[in-house]
Amino acid sequence: MPLHPATRRALYRRLQAANPRPRSELEYSSPFELLVAVMLSAHTTDRSVNAATRKLFPLADTPQAMLALGVEGVKPFLRSVGLYTAKSQHLIGLCRQLLQRHGGEVPSDRAALEALPGVGRKTASIILNIVFGKDEIAVDTHIFRVANRTGLAPGKTPLAVERALVANTPEEFKRDAHHWLLLHGRYVCTARAPACPKCSIADLCEYPHKSQPHAGKERRPRGSLPRPQRPPARAGSVAGKRPP
Ligand code: SF4
Repeated sequence: MPLHPATRRALYRRLQAANPRPRSELEYSSPFELLVAVMLSAHTTDRSVNAATRKLFPLADTPQAMLALGVEGVKPFLRSVGLYTAKSQHLIGLCRQLLQRHGGEVPSDRAALEALPGVGRKTASIILNIVFGKDEIAVDTHIFRVANRTGLAPGKTPLAVERALVANTPEEFKRDAHHWLLLHGRYVCTARAPACPKCSIADLCEYPHKSQPHAGKERRPRGSLPRPQRPPARAGSVAGKRPP
């Protein structure tokens, strides 16, 4: 059972107040570049993707130009992002398909996006959210962790968490929920050592193993999060301060 609706709303208000206009940390200047950057970001950091695309995009910022480089041409740029052989093949296949089926444009529907080489549900959700303004909430490892720990959207799989988040996130927060939760997981509610003492939503969070000031590092392995234990029946919630 997820958090009380009023607590959920208060939690999002806190995250919104701290970062009213959250943005992706991937660097891009067009939908095509964002699609490429998100596809490359699987199993690696945004920082390493940015380091690669800062050199690649000035040479090839369109599907045509990227296709002209070919698999062997893009490989040297992608060595730092991991799985670079497969990602190079996906990138060129993706460009070919964009040109053949979509006139070189990034498609705006999920089925067409997920049909592109290297593009799965998470990447498609991010593109639909950022580029096309859809209320999609892509769930990565950070969001999966935060949703489970806080009690915002407990679930055993990313898809279960995604469905719970989409179902129970208030409309006014859906557009930015992905970025708020991702950034919170990346910088505060980290896998091994959540910074609970300085967490802005600590009083709303139901994680039963919150870290204490000066406590040792938590040793729980990634992806093996227990479902938060529920406290006794809640009587209402703590209201967050609405940002201006
Ligand atoms: S209180 Fe701790 S476990 Fe809960 S969201 Fe904050 S950092 Fe994560």
